[in-house]
Amino acid sequence: MTGEFALIDRIRRQATRHPRVMMGIGDDCSVIDGNGHPLLVTSDLLLDGRHFELVKHGARAVGYKALAVNLSDIAAMAGTPIAAFVAVALPRSNAPAIAEELLAGMLPLAEEFGVALAGGDTNAWDGPLVVCVTLVGQSGPRGPVKRSGARVGDAIFVTGPLGGSLAGRHLHPRPRIREALVLDDLVTLNAMIDLSDGLAADLGHILEESGGLGAELESSKIPVHTDVHLPSTASSSTPLLRALSDGEDFELCFTVGPEAAERLRTNHALDVPLHEIGRIVSPSGLWLVDADARRELIEPRGFDHLETP
Ligand code: ADP
Ligand code: MG
Repeated sequence: MTGEFALIDRIRRQATRHPRVMMGIGDDCSVIDGNGHPLLVTSDLLLDGRHFELVKHGARAVGYKALAVNLSDIAAMAGTPIAAFVAVALPRSNAPAIAEELLAGMLPLAEEFGVALAGGDTNAWDGPLVVCVTLVGQSGPRGPVKRSGARVGDAIFVTGPLGGSLAGRHLHPRPRIREALVLDDLVTLNAMIDLSDGLAADLGHILEESGGLGAELESSKIPVHTDVHLPSTASSSTPLLRALSDGEDFELCFTVGPEAAERLRTNHALDVPLHEIGRIVSPSGLWLVDADARRELIEPRGFDHLETP
């Protein structure tokens, strides 16, 4: 294993510990014992030129995205958000105006999801805009849904269509907080993750954290977003592979046992489409199965921040 995930693995092995940190590195949020109430903490950094282009997209869109991607990580644990902390490195030339716009992008979303803007840090420098949001939340009544709970025989579901988000969708994802809470209330969610690096990579995290399991995905069931056909995201890859690896979809991927799967097939009461795309199997590896039952092993690849272009 190389790249970003190998580095995170090395950090994880050396990480210091505290008895009240129930879960540290390795999931969408860490889980901290807040005197009997599990607290969720997550942090995401956005860089001009990497996750957005300030000149093209404007700081308001950046403010929205910076909070939304963190809300997506809270959703991935079936939690609800409490407080956001916003650290910024502003380009010195236009610092106050950019700061105002960031805030204008963030506040409506914070209000909608009941998040207090509770702190942060402000710096200016000669470099590009950098925004880091840390979000604290609490888990739902059934406790945090982890990446590590998938079991052999589980059905795998995703919300919404995937792929092509770089055409523009990646700037205004809808955090699936409510959807995750509805699902968590309706069935036992064995494992869940939000799709930031691409379905193949993110489902790969569930498989790895669940003890080295595998998954079979039915090619025809994977929902491909129409955005993959937009000229601005043109790629030599097929639409299916784009849905598997483009990333920044910010939809949910989760696994449930057979009875829960049956329940979700008939009644899920969600406002977003729910797609059953495959099942968890015991030999490790991620397999694509086509209509003729031909199986193809795919790399659990997606976006790797340390990959050299
Ligand atoms: P996500 O895509 O859900 O935000 P990441 O892939 O960014 O998750 O991170 C995977 C895990 O590694 C998370 O638990 C995150 O908190 C942790 N992590 C990432 N970078 C670092 C770092 N530099 N130091 C400590 N933990 C980190
Ligand atoms: Mg995540």
